Amino acid sequence: MHEQLLGWIERDRVRFIDFLRGLVREPSPNPPGDTRGVMRTITKFLDEEKLPYRIVERDPTMPNLVASQEFSATSKHLVLNGHIDVFPVENAGQWTHDPWSGALADGAVHGRGVADMKTGTSASLFTYMYLSRLASGLTGKLTLTVVSEEETFGPNGARHLFDVCPGEITGTVCLNGEPSSRHTIRFGERGAVWLRFRITTPGGHGAYPHVSPNAIELAYSLIRDLREFTNKQFTEPAELATALDASAQAVDAANGAGASRIARSITMNVGTMNAGPKVNMIASRCEFEVDFRLPNGVTRQDLLAWVDALRSKHSFEYEVLMVNDPNWCAPDSELAQILRRNATAVTGVEPANVIGLGNTDARLWRYRGVPAVVYGPAPVGMGSKDERVPIEEALDVLRCHVLSAYDYLKGMTA
Ligand SMILES: [Zn+2]
Repeated sequence: MHEQLLGWIERDRVRFIDFLRGLVREPSPNPPGDTRGVMRTITKFLDEEKLPYRIVERDPTMPNLVASQEFSATSKHLVLNGHIDVFPVENAGQWTHDPWSGALADGAVHGRGVADMKTGTSASLFTYMYLSRLASGLTGKLTLTVVSEEETFGPNGARHLFDVCPGEITGTVCLNGEPSSRHTIRFGERGAVWLRFRITTPGGHGAYPHVSPNAIELAYSLIRDLREFTNKQFTEPAELATALDASAQAVDAANGAGASRIARSITMNVGTMNAGPKVNMIASRCEFEVDFRLPNGVTRQDLLAWVDALRSKHSFEYEVLMVNDPNWCAPDSELAQILRRNATAVTGVEPANVIGLGNTDARLWRYRGVPAVVYGPAPVGMGSKDERVPIEEALDVLRCHVLSAYDYLKGMTA
């Protein structure tokens, strides 16, 4: 059956790449996160294939789609997940090709979102189509979820599906095509905690510094102490540590020396600062936002307790803007093993088990105890300029997803 599936993909090469280019040509930067154009392209495809679906939306400009095929009554339920919003474009003039052109050049598809993650989402859609054709030879259930608002982790995307139809979309495993590169399969992620701090002082004339402390300088001192949290000692779960020890060399080889250590480290970034009001006045207010990344083994409670303890030394207010808890699933789940076998056969590279440095919607499945694995193209240009995916790499992602979904759901006699 693998030969037949690979034959279909080969015959559909141009169709798949044209579809991907079509998704890129529908701009869906987030913010603002309006994905209606991309969703129209996707529903047109499903309509032409006569595959039923329904739109589940909380915000009409950020639609989500759910489609399901029930093959037989077993407990196996594979959920395909992809998002259709993308990073914004900051300096379109600096791109070699217009970021919304879906240009085909140098053997690659170019444009914002082609790696993160319109290639992966296209692979999910075509996987759903091919497996729907094989219905009689499959067991269990296959569900396609296409979502909005992933880039900001807001309430209108995958989170909304879990709010309104968790029974339909939770499944027994989840396959996601976010960027990973052929060198890695992601079975977990670090967490993220975004905090906004505010420091206020009486302020005064800049020539009279004895009348008030300076809020910017107090912030400076607070930031130094916050950074101490990145040195905190913690213990990784043993099974996780073993898997990450085994993949460390491969990760460093693929992503540069030190990359494997970052996935297991607490890191911190001060992303914004707003203070003032004027050069010759003592700053009376300073507001700044900090992005902490937490490895598995460190919890949000650990971090917030640390921050609260700093109140004995500093005077400040803070609020929690966003939390994605760190997460991981068994690195050798059935789907992960199937995917590794197919990826090795298709690409010639055996992918290593890794923890993602950033967040994806796969976390939402792991939070519910469902093994969720991420395998997609290399993140070339992701979040910066000249984002692109080579045609052969996009087709390899499709091949790996189709074969792995098939292997997970194939009948006992197939
Ligand atoms: Zn993404």
